[in-house]
Amino acid sequence: MKLSTQLLIDGQFVTGDGQAEPILNPATGELLASVPEASFEQVNRAVNGAQRAFAQWSRTTPAQRSTLLLRLADAIERHAEEFAALESLNCGKPYLAVLNDELPAVVDCFRFFAGAARCLQGPLAGEYIEGHTSMIRRDPIGVVGSIAPWNYPLMMAAWKMAPVLAAGNTVVLKPSEQTPLTALRLAELASELFPRGVINIVCGRGESVGAPLVEHPLVRMVSLTGDIATGQKILQSAARTMKRTHLELGGKAPVIIFDDADLEAVVAGIRTFGFYNAGQDCTAACRIYAQGKIYDKFVAAMTDAVASIKVGGPREEGVEMGPLISDRQRNRVASFVERAQSSGHVEVTAGGKIRPGNGFFFEPTLIAHARQEDEIVRREVFGPVVSVTRFSDAEQVVQWANDSDSDYGLASSVWTRDLGLASKVASHLQYGCTWINTHFMLTSEMPHGGMKMSGYGKDLSLYALEDYTVPRHIMVKL
Ligand code: NAD
Repeated sequence: MKLSTQLLIDGQFVTGDGQAEPILNPATGELLASVPEASFEQVNRAVNGAQRAFAQWSRTTPAQRSTLLLRLADAIERHAEEFAALESLNCGKPYLAVLNDELPAVVDCFRFFAGAARCLQGPLAGEYIEGHTSMIRRDPIGVVGSIAPWNYPLMMAAWKMAPVLAAGNTVVLKPSEQTPLTALRLAELASELFPRGVINIVCGRGESVGAPLVEHPLVRMVSLTGDIATGQKILQSAARTMKRTHLELGGKAPVIIFDDADLEAVVAGIRTFGFYNAGQDCTAACRIYAQGKIYDKFVAAMTDAVASIKVGGPREEGVEMGPLISDRQRNRVASFVERAQSSGHVEVTAGGKIRPGNGFFFEPTLIAHARQEDEIVRREVFGPVVSVTRFSDAEQVVQWANDSDSDYGLASSVWTRDLGLASKVASHLQYGCTWINTHFMLTSEMPHGGMKMSGYGKDLSLYALEDYTVPRHIMVKL
């Protein structure tokens, strides 16, 4: 397979002038490619190109932008197998999961925003002061610098680019330095459709490429999906030029299981939603609170379920979970598990170890009898590790669920047959999303994003489109 390694800057494909970044295959540890990162000057050229393109692109009609977004969606769909192959190679994800779960969601994201571009709404024009007509415009902001993480590289590129472009902005996207391959291929397809400079892709590390992008005075807005610490750095830097920011940060999703929950459904749900993408998901169902009477049955059934997850390389028959993204990430996960074990009161009932051999594999792991004060309950692991804690009543569990070391507030779920109880608990949870009797289900029409330290930008839905526009008041004296 041919791997694209060139950056897209102001309509030109160019080799980065900066340091070469090694791109590894996490399933084998082998070198896949080397992608030279953008130099300071190349970031500057990308932003200037995007600024020039903004003059025309911001004046296109929603219908014109919609047409191009639909064509891009079609092009991705036509190349779905190629994208799935690239993504699974670069991230170690099971190939069929990328093809059947991620690619349709990516295509749908572009199609949704193609439609949404034409459907923005607002207050009625009218005479709110006698003799004066007021109307609201929602205008694009300018050049948006978008910075993406490594866990869903193509999907994050779609979530970041589609609403930005639909709203009439231009974009400079920086994928994660570890996973640039699908974004670079996307750049090739997009460059055949969009005017020069509207879409720019620059690769490289946060400090050398992300930071200059955030600092650039012509970038009017920065969006980040990443770590809380990165979000804080970006906010500090953005303050100097008063940029708008859109932050989607980490999570530590509580999963509240009441005694009357459907045990089979819960176990099947956590088996999927706790370990999807090897748990490298900010909404992963990783922090279980099980009520007193269901607790032992749940731990026993969940232990068997976790032990049955098939781990392997992207193309292995029946594989359900791949490796972690890097050796570093795997060691980080292993050290969380070691520290949990050293507490003396937890029990690792499934997994718990690095899988020997090549590749960055860690066994799917269940940690029972964890306590609210334990690190494993309170900090984001970002790996295939799920903890279980016993609780007694709704009030206690809501308080625990709303409390974590970094004050996360991204996603949560409640499992019970009592919908009244579920709704009440959901209303008291301080999370951007609460699922009831499921977890992790996203749809383009509904917002995804956090509260508290998990950030405040919304991805997907009309809310994302609004985030990338500015409401303006036009008043005419009659
Ligand atoms: P990260 O914050 O280290 O990196 C994210 C991106 O930011 C990368 O492209 C990186 O190069 C860039 N970056 C790093 N430092 C920068 C700086 N100083 N200036 C500008 N850019 C900089 O995060 P990661 O390790 O790639 O991803 C894992 C984290 O992302 C986890 O905390 C996870 O929860 C979070 N995440 C959140 C969501 C969500 O929707 N809320 C989704 C996926 C991942």
